[in-house]
Amino acid sequence: MSDIHTHNLGYPRIGQQRELKKATEAYWHGRLSREELEATGRRLRQDNWARQQAAGIDLLPCNDFTFYDQMLDFSCLIGNVPPRFGWKGEGMDLDTLFLMARGSRGEARETCGSGCSHQPSFACEMTKWFDTNYHYIVPEFRADTRFQLVGDKVFREFEEAAGLGHKVKPVLPGPVTYLTLGKVQDEDHPNFDRYTLLDGLVDVYVQILQRLATQGAEWVQIDEPVFGLDLSPVQKDALLSSWERLSRAAPGLKILVTSYFSELHENLPLFLSLPVQALHYDAVRGSAELEALLTRFPKDKILSLGVVNGRNIWKNDFSKSLALLEKARHAVGADRLWLAPSCSLQHAPITLANEPALDAELKSWMAFADEKLEEVVILNGLLRGTADAALLTANQSAIQSRRESPRIHRAAVKARLAAVKPADSERQSPFAQRRPLQQQKLKLPEFPTTTIGSFPQTAEVRAMRARWKKGELSTESYEVFLQQEIRHCVSFQDEAGIDMPVHGEFERNDMVEYFGEQLDGFSFTQNGWVQSYGSRYVKPPVIFGDVSRPAPMTVRWSRYAQSLTDRPMKGMLTGPVTILQWSFVRDDQPRSETTRQIALAIRDEVVDLEAAGIAAIQIDEPAIREGLPLRRSDWAAYLDWAVNAFRLCASGVRDETQIHTHMCYAEFNDIIESIAALDADVITIETSRSNMELLEAFVDFKYLNEIGPGVYDIHSPRIPAVEEMVALMRKAEAVIPRAQLWINPDCGLKTRGWAEVKTSLLHLVETARRLRVEKPALV
Ligand code: GLN
Ligand code: ZN
Repeated sequence: MSDIHTHNLGYPRIGQQRELKKATEAYWHGRLSREELEATGRRLRQDNWARQQAAGIDLLPCNDFTFYDQMLDFSCLIGNVPPRFGWKGEGMDLDTLFLMARGSRGEARETCGSGCSHQPSFACEMTKWFDTNYHYIVPEFRADTRFQLVGDKVFREFEEAAGLGHKVKPVLPGPVTYLTLGKVQDEDHPNFDRYTLLDGLVDVYVQILQRLATQGAEWVQIDEPVFGLDLSPVQKDALLSSWERLSRAAPGLKILVTSYFSELHENLPLFLSLPVQALHYDAVRGSAELEALLTRFPKDKILSLGVVNGRNIWKNDFSKSLALLEKARHAVGADRLWLAPSCSLQHAPITLANEPALDAELKSWMAFADEKLEEVVILNGLLRGTADAALLTANQSAIQSRRESPRIHRAAVKARLAAVKPADSERQSPFAQRRPLQQQKLKLPEFPTTTIGSFPQTAEVRAMRARWKKGELSTESYEVFLQQEIRHCVSFQDEAGIDMPVHGEFERNDMVEYFGEQLDGFSFTQNGWVQSYGSRYVKPPVIFGDVSRPAPMTVRWSRYAQSLTDRPMKGMLTGPVTILQWSFVRDDQPRSETTRQIALAIRDEVVDLEAAGIAAIQIDEPAIREGLPLRRSDWAAYLDWAVNAFRLCASGVRDETQIHTHMCYAEFNDIIESIAALDADVITIETSRSNMELLEAFVDFKYLNEIGPGVYDIHSPRIPAVEEMVALMRKAEAVIPRAQLWINPDCGLKTRGWAEVKTSLLHLVETARRLRVEKPALV
């Protein structure tokens, strides 16, 4: 009989007071010694184990802590350091790890402030971990890559935990997940097949497992979330062969393989066939597949069921979970059933205990990491009859109050949504008819110039906002200050000759938070931080109820900006899909429904901007692509509602009002039809860093609306020369007719300084002037 009934897959490492961020940044800037940094790490780990133990979890994770990222930790453990970092090939230290994460110039990574990430020249790339907002450091593979066990972090952390008397299982990424999520970075062998590295990789895993066994580890957790993806035959073979070998690596050491974030579909039989002692399954994302899993579940394995959602901030519905768990117990037997959160809790904030200001009712519906662990323990107790039944009653009354709360359920919002007709997502006329009307109204030259919205958020702008938020600055003085910034910004654009100016977004802290703060149905936490990457954490808004817009949000600023110039001012909004993607969302209705509610709220703003005399309105949707489901077979349904939500918010205006949209990337090849289906009159995209290569999507697909491929890389302080931008536009002209082209930067300018911005934009305007007089290049 097993003495383990509950376990955890991973715990947030950032610290309740964001200690990890403060310590790592201080270390990078030379304000903290290596020893002090290590000591902070130790304190955090100790505290995290103590909290999980206090919650009553039987088996705790170790090696889930990291100073930067767990994939990067693993690369360092096995000596997979790209040659450009000059690593000597033996031993491993934290500085090499930070070098890989941050590049040789030690610069902090820059973002355009919107979640899209960019690296200084030498750092390893990072990308989103499945469909979360966490970014991992992408492993790199070359034909001459050789893995060797050079690090010892996992062994040290196991020893540390064991020394403190905790029962822990080391956590490692699985071999096929590691290979799949990396990328080949080898100029001499660009088509190198990374799966040829599998055997050498498994050799190192074998050593790791053997050493853990020698250290006295009873269990190890190996994460293979790739089971939830579309797998090629090569990947399936890799899973089969690597697990065959790993299962025999260290007799006596038991292995738990985890999958999460997705149903397994055709990969389910393979998953169930793994020759290991325990399998973890995400019963939240996989609830519809649970029956199938249970009927086939092998009699000799332990089933770990992730019943508590590690991806949201809501209380678990115990009666629903108990129903699942009872079925599972019936199928596999009580001894072979473990309970856990659905995935690592690193995606959830730490504890509600740090939210004194959150109103009590809202809080009674929520659960962060610590509360989720309590839920796992209570569910286990209820299932096995050892917990007080009053706990179930209390849970059910919270669930019921949420289900019925008039704060959440607003009849007017639901009625409005129900009354939406297909025609509400259609502009009055097709683009071909709208275009001449817009041209007539806007009177723009060929190659119109514009920017993406934000202008430098200087230290002064941020300081004034902080003082206003603290109540040190009156609203009146703050607004006077904002008007002065807008005036400066508009007059610069006028003098520079930007054809379609913007107001500069000085009033905004963040493109989602700014709107969330003004919409009904949103709430904000004080300490609900989650790691986005390295030392960058985000505090996503919480969408708890039906969304509506009580009053205009941006109109006064756009109107004021328009009053300062004769050129057409572009209004600036964040789109519904992006607001959804970057928030904690409701779990009591489909994401599509929440998005449509947001779309109606934004639609009201679009209509009000038009009524206020704003002739062009940009609705940013940088997150549309990242919302794509993990399985391709689910893409069409998602794209359908995402595109529809955008159209719903953009279609309330007259034909002559020009709708823009913006995306911080140009990987459109596989979704170009949906991009076209947005039916935005103008789209601006990021292309300068890829030298316009990303415009390839437009070679085969005839995109009819107007488009501004970015020619100014805003992720770098570098000022682009006119010739450079002209050359980029020439490339664009080779695939898109010049009458459709706009000239603009890649993204917003908020992270840049005024000096560079001014010169760069003058160059940009000059680029347009040149293109207007010069003949198109012969292609
Ligand atoms: N309008 C926003 C800005 O300029 C767009 C940001 C983004 O696309 N991420 O800052
Ligand atoms: Zn952008």
